[in-house]
Amino acid sequence: MPWKAPNPIEIYKMLPKTNCGKCGEANCMAFAVKLINFEADLDQCTPLLEEGYRENYQKIKALVAPPVREIALKSPQRTVKIGGEYVLYRHELKYMNPTAIAIDVDDSMDKDTLIKRLKTIENFSYEYVGRKLKLDLVALRSTSKDPKQYMKATQTVIENCTLPLILCSQDPRIIEAGLSVLNGRYKPLIYAATKDNWREMADLAKTYNSALTIASPGDLDTLISLAKTLTEDVGIEDVALDPGCFTGIGGLSYTIKAYTQLRYKAMNEGYKYASYPLIGTPISIWTKPHEDPIQTMMWETILSTIMMTRYADAIIMHSLEGWTLLPLVMWRFQIYTDPRKPVAVEKGLRAIGNPDENSPVFITSNYALTYSIVSNDIQKGGLNAWLIVIDTEGLAVDVSVAAKKFIGDKVLEVIKESGLEGKVKNKILIIPGKAARVSGDIEEATKWKVVVGPMDSSEIPSFIKKMWTPEKIKEILEG
Ligand code: SF4
Repeated sequence: MPWKAPNPIEIYKMLPKTNCGKCGEANCMAFAVKLINFEADLDQCTPLLEEGYRENYQKIKALVAPPVREIALKSPQRTVKIGGEYVLYRHELKYMNPTAIAIDVDDSMDKDTLIKRLKTIENFSYEYVGRKLKLDLVALRSTSKDPKQYMKATQTVIENCTLPLILCSQDPRIIEAGLSVLNGRYKPLIYAATKDNWREMADLAKTYNSALTIASPGDLDTLISLAKTLTEDVGIEDVALDPGCFTGIGGLSYTIKAYTQLRYKAMNEGYKYASYPLIGTPISIWTKPHEDPIQTMMWETILSTIMMTRYADAIIMHSLEGWTLLPLVMWRFQIYTDPRKPVAVEKGLRAIGNPDENSPVFITSNYALTYSIVSNDIQKGGLNAWLIVIDTEGLAVDVSVAAKKFIGDKVLEVIKESGLEGKVKNKILIIPGKAARVSGDIEEATKWKVVVGPMDSSEIPSFIKKMWTPEKIKEILEG
């Protein structure tokens, strides 16, 4: 049966019902509603953590638990969550934790090459509609097959990168060498336990409190049997599954079917041995590379995109070129946005270029696409300006004006919070042409002069050229 959100009354009945407000909500019912809408965390109700409520806490936790287990991979500086999904299809609710992208490094690299690659992985960033799209994990492979060398490489990785790790080897001696360096400060993902090494890998995962991937390429029966043994008999909770990643005739179709089947069983049949994050290894394409490396890189990207769509919670890749990663991070952004809400950016004051006290002040909505277009148009025009982004709940300017979300009080809120009054000499606000009808409301609320700007932000540079002169400014201020 697909996951069904519990009724808030059902949750409310098990809460302490004191309306104490410690969770930040006015009462327990409000907290119950937020909890089922994924807007609150159960642990925010601190009274529920007390001894007398232990049973209720566990019951509520089980009611709101996702069908796919969520695993948190940690470094001292960062946490990356994988899994934790509730639905098979995005439109049924939303996908929770974006597919984590891991890039490989290996222990045969010389130190300088290794550090350079680590820096490239960590610093990869692409700004898209106000968000920074980044990579998530480092996958450390062992090509040396030497535990001492792996130990040394692990040390270099943790000294030069803050991302959480996947330790990759099927040799338990190698994995132990890496884990011993992490010394309990990380929660890595071990890749991987197989039918041949699962006992030793299970011991390591338990001893070092690590998550464990079970890999059984091309053999789902063995994968499920190992998942059953490792979770039920050995007692490992944080398990991830890799059914294998193949290309070529029949290979790709097996791969898609295997991932889909596992996720379908978890979501629609509640099959517990499939209810774990899925790990994809498009990197395996490099075991039989095309004679033209560009072709291999291209196919790795295509494979990664397919796996991200069907239903890998983390993927391990080798290519690190911008053109291979860009389609991936953008595709991930598209499928992991909440389909129930417009994509929004934070409200607040942004400095575009190097604005000073004489720079113009623009206003826009917090719909991510609008913000991105307006800030780009100001930038492309070579202007130094202030940009006030108001909280229109992710609505575009014209829609938010109609919905009464583009209002003077929200502009005033950002002016006050940002201390804008102390940053500019001329109290003039330039509003979008599409917000002309609320100019009076904004002027009244803020007591700043309001000028109606162009209908299209691409005209901002020519608009400023004409009107942002000392004479015009004086005219506006005295008008
Ligand atoms: S902290 Fe718990 S008991 Fe207090 S109001 Fe919130 S839900 Fe109710």
